[in-house]
Amino acid sequence: MQQERLLKVLVIGDLGVGKTSIIKRYVHQIFSHHYRATIGVDFALKVFNWDHQTVIRLQLWDIAGQERYGNMTRVYYREAVGALVVFDMTRASTFQAVLKWKGDLDAKVALGNGRPVPAVLLANKCDLQHQGLCTKGPKLETFTREHGFVGWYETSAKDDTNIDAAITCLVENIMSRD
Ligand code: GDP
Ligand code: MG
Repeated sequence: MQQERLLKVLVIGDLGVGKTSIIKRYVHQIFSHHYRATIGVDFALKVFNWDHQTVIRLQLWDIAGQERYGNMTRVYYREAVGALVVFDMTRASTFQAVLKWKGDLDAKVALGNGRPVPAVLLANKCDLQHQGLCTKGPKLETFTREHGFVGWYETSAKDDTNIDAAITCLVENIMSRD
């Protein structure tokens, strides 16, 4: 018998880090330099086979406008089972905001057993690395472990680097918990 799993995954991080671009790349295979700032909360859906028995309906929840406040309402977080926390490699301030976002996530949602929801860290815009990178591999490795992320990836929504890998890592983690 086939079963369907609906997974609500949040995509959080500061304004302009590439959240909307990552979602569009993953779901629609497109990239543009001109996304209008979405207003409010929006989600995109990707449906795929996970294994012989399981179809995943993956909802990626975008935010827009509210990023400037650095936190979201509990309604947005409700029933989320995972998160992508995104920063922009070329802007150190967006990396500093990562812990604020992770803190907000852990304060507002948890799994049924009380454990934090799995989160993967995305160092986005890696195609622009030469423009002054604020963090490097070994440091991020330690950071990831110390702050309870399940993994990290250098990504580019523009060049389609590691977007699939990062999301697959998150989904694997979510699916291995039940
Ligand atoms: P959001 O505010 O987090 O949703 O960020 P957007 O997805 O709107 O992206 C902000 C800007 O960064 C846009 O001009 C995008 O085209 C650009 N951008 C997003 N991802 C990348 C990337 O991987 N590489 C480059 N070079 N630009 C990107
Ligand atoms: Mg956006």
